[in-house]
Amino acid sequence: MTAIDEIKEAVGPKGYHQDIRTMAPYLADWRGNFSGSASIIVMPKSTAEVSAVVKICARNGVAMVPQGGNTGLVRGGIPTDTGDQVVINLSRMNKILEVDAASFTLTTEAGATTEAVQQAAREADRLFPLSLAAEGSCQIGGNIATNAGGIHVLRYGNSRDLVLGLEVVLPDGQIWDGQSALRKDNTGYDLKQLFIGAEGSLGIITGAVLKLFPAPKAIETAFIGCNSAEDALSMLARFREVKGDHLTAFEIFPRQGLELVLKHIPDTRDPLADAHPWYALVEFWAANADEPLKDAMEQMLAKMLEAGLGSDAAIPASIEQRKAMWKLRESFAEALRAEGAGLAFDISVPVARIPEFIARADEAVEALLPGALAVGFGHAGDGNVHYNLGPPPGMARQELMAIADKLSRAVHDIVVGLGGSISAEHGIGRQRRAELAHYKDDLSLSMMRGIKASLDPENLMNPGVIL
Ligand SMILES: Cc1cc2nc3c(=O)[nH]c(=O)nc-3n(C[C@H](O)[C@H](O)[C@H](O)COP(=O)(O)OP(=O)(O)OC[C@H]3O[C@@H](n4cnc5c(N)ncnc54)[C@H](O)[C@@H]3O)c2cc1C
Repeated sequence: MTAIDEIKEAVGPKGYHQDIRTMAPYLADWRGNFSGSASIIVMPKSTAEVSAVVKICARNGVAMVPQGGNTGLVRGGIPTDTGDQVVINLSRMNKILEVDAASFTLTTEAGATTEAVQQAAREADRLFPLSLAAEGSCQIGGNIATNAGGIHVLRYGNSRDLVLGLEVVLPDGQIWDGQSALRKDNTGYDLKQLFIGAEGSLGIITGAVLKLFPAPKAIETAFIGCNSAEDALSMLARFREVKGDHLTAFEIFPRQGLELVLKHIPDTRDPLADAHPWYALVEFWAANADEPLKDAMEQMLAKMLEAGLGSDAAIPASIEQRKAMWKLRESFAEALRAEGAGLAFDISVPVARIPEFIARADEAVEALLPGALAVGFGHAGDGNVHYNLGPPPGMARQELMAIADKLSRAVHDIVVGLGGSISAEHGIGRQRRAELAHYKDDLSLSMMRGIKASLDPENLMNPGVIL
């Protein structure tokens, strides 16, 4: 019996795909830039089945690629195009097991989508604050494996800050039960942290206990037009000083990006009458419905517009209008994909240096590829810029990708020179491995390799990711 036959027997006929057409979406990345190959896509239904599959792979020396919703943007969840590999997709492990409203915790299988977890929390009058544009498809296991960020990090932190406990199938198939719901537990090394942000290189997350928060009962949003990214950041500082306890999101984006959204995404419209070089989308949340957020927002905006920090602002009059404003921001990745922008950077710099990063990166890109499309936007409150490049008019995307390494080095040199990180929230995957090796110090790399070797000595769990 081959390893693949053993796997099929372990998961039953509903637990795998093997025909080329059904496998294709699991083997291609979200942007459509890369695709890999695998002998089989396995879809286990339980932790016991994941463990059985991993044991078979470990015994037979078969490489494994853990996969969630396949919305990752650094090629961590799709296999390479060579060698025998098994994709282990968690989609069928999507049960939310318990919402404990009194303890503010939620226990779930790893394949539940982020949106399903948010919804389950909402039904119990609680909040699960992780929110990102891919939330309808990405899974909690993928979020934890990538330490995903999103729009509420400013107030609630990254995925790492939202995890209390984990269940993980180790590279040899053993099941590690770390599904504690405790908020305090100082009994030695905090092992769950190893798997958060490890991008599936140390084991397969099968379950998680997550932190919940009081549900917001008052929400106030503003869509602000401003003259520069500097002005937007001055506003951010002011919002933090005055409304730090309620400030939940602060996103910035340039006119050029907004125009792409208006061009490519149906049912979108500019909330402001005139065009502005930059925009900020800001949101306050409060758990108390009586909190006068609207007054606070209006007063702060009036002062800031008077001081010339912003040029115009719109406050939504209904939930639909608020959703429409957020749709503009959340459609950036989709609009850039539709426009053919092929190269994306996910970087962070100290918040105050965002404008300097964008100006210097634009200059470096223009020097290497005159006329290239360059759009930087993102989670300004976290210093996180998604900097996207597309070919100049008339140039094919493949030509842009042919000089991707050169462009990456130029952009990342600027990031590192500003004291920043080459991956803020998307991870390293297979795409940024060479960049990590170039920029990370030797001691950090050597400790990472030591951890990998101790848990996965045969290098079978997502080989080629990160290291
Ligand atoms: C439109 C769009 C917007 C996005 N916005 C954001 C954003 O704001 N913030 C952000 O952080 N990211 C964002 N992303 C990136 C992506 O959604 C996140 O990285 C997400 O957390 C990936 O989850 P997934 O389930 O799709 O994982 P996959 O793409 O399937 O996998 C990602 C990585 O995690 C590993 N993995 C997946 N599941 C498991 C598991 N159960 N156990 C162990 N390893 C596993 C994979 O091997 C891979 O290395 C965005 C993506 C898109 C397409």
